[in-house]
Amino acid sequence: MVIDDDKDIGELVVAAAQEMGFVCVATTNAAQFPELFTFDTNLILLDLMMPEMDGIEVLRLLSEQQCKAGIVLMSGISTRILETAEKLARALGLSVVGHLQKPFRLTELEEVLSKYLDMGAPKNVVNYSPQADFQDEELRNAIECDELVLHYQPLTDIETGNVAGLEALVRWQHPTLGLIFPDNFIPRVEALGLIDELGWLTIDRGLAEVGKFVDKDGVIPGISLNITVHSLLDLKFPDTFISLTKKHGVSAANVTIEITETGLIKELSYALDVLTRLRMKSVQLSIDDFGSGYAMMKQLRNVPATELKIDMNFVQNMHINTGDRVMVQKTIEIGHELGLQVVAEGVETQQQLDFLRLEGCDIAQGYLFSRPLPQDGMVSWLEEYRSRQVQ
Ligand code: C2E
Ligand code: CA
Ligand code: CA
Repeated sequence: MVIDDDKDIGELVVAAAQEMGFVCVATTNAAQFPELFTFDTNLILLDLMMPEMDGIEVLRLLSEQQCKAGIVLMSGISTRILETAEKLARALGLSVVGHLQKPFRLTELEEVLSKYLDMGAPKNVVNYSPQADFQDEELRNAIECDELVLHYQPLTDIETGNVAGLEALVRWQHPTLGLIFPDNFIPRVEALGLIDELGWLTIDRGLAEVGKFVDKDGVIPGISLNITVHSLLDLKFPDTFISLTKKHGVSAANVTIEITETGLIKELSYALDVLTRLRMKSVQLSIDDFGSGYAMMKQLRNVPATELKIDMNFVQNMHINTGDRVMVQKTIEIGHELGLQVVAEGVETQQQLDFLRLEGCDIAQGYLFSRPLPQDGMVSWLEEYRSRQVQ
């Protein structure tokens, strides 16, 4: 999708993109954008300065829609401002491919388009099913009738190659629409006020299932559970949580709660109480999507975390963008200085893994090892992987 009030530039971009195999829509009127935007839009080239609605407003809209498309910012203003806008877009959780300083040459345009293609599969298509148009009532039923399932993805110790733990990721097994990914339904769960229920379902299920991943020596890997910060506002959370670990015979020290950096910062003073009590009971605490929230290090120093998970966008762009690479290096450094374990997620290539090893990152997670798999699939994957580890 090309959004530029200058018709000539819009047409030039469309022509070049079509030449490279993209299917394009273009508009010169940013106000039309909300109508044109759909969830199968994979790449958006956006002019920052437009009369009806400026590019920053469009970025906010995209962020509200949890847009996963790649974004290229274009403008005739100074590179500094473009870079600041790029940072803002990232802080809003958007996936920025790069920027084009006007006037740009055709080769520069082609370069940024191929960079997008190199970044891999169109993000909106991967884990976002636009056809998932379910009713809220169905979602409510799914939560009540336990139609949600967990898939598991390994966390690999970079130095030894051993599986250090598994992250549980929720999916909705819809009777007619098939498997629906969390980005499609969690925002609705939140809007329906059912996020705490979903949290308890996944905790209960994850703790019940983790024993299935035991190795031949009887060692059960750690399990990481994604919890929305909202659940932590309930002062009874630690006690209920611990009673569930006991019910399933799982050691609290083997369980990691993942909270996103943005969520944490939003509710820091309330969450600290519950988090501290969880830590006192040996539960591990991971700060997820670290770096995306631009949180102040000063604030995070007070969080009783045990782990930092570098935001996937940095890991995936570290070989194309110096800023992202520095972010990865600094996060590893700061994490270690604070005595935290550092995890890189979204690791898809050997090149990324090699770099992370060189930088001393502790744990890697990503498609390079395995996609998230259903419980049975993960049991077989582990069996295969562990037998190869021994050889
Ligand atoms: P997250 O916690 O950051 O989880 C990582 C996401 O990255 C997962 O998407 C995973 O499938 C995906 N991923 C893992 N490796 C790679 C890779 O190499 N490349 C790429 N491109 N992606 C990779 P998923 O499962 O769609 O989950 C999306 C988000 O939904 C999660 O992001 C998490 O914030 C949320 N979520 C998942 N399960 C739960 C849950 O049980 N409760 C809550 N509250 N949120 C959940
Ligand atoms: Ca996570
Ligand atoms: Ca994450």
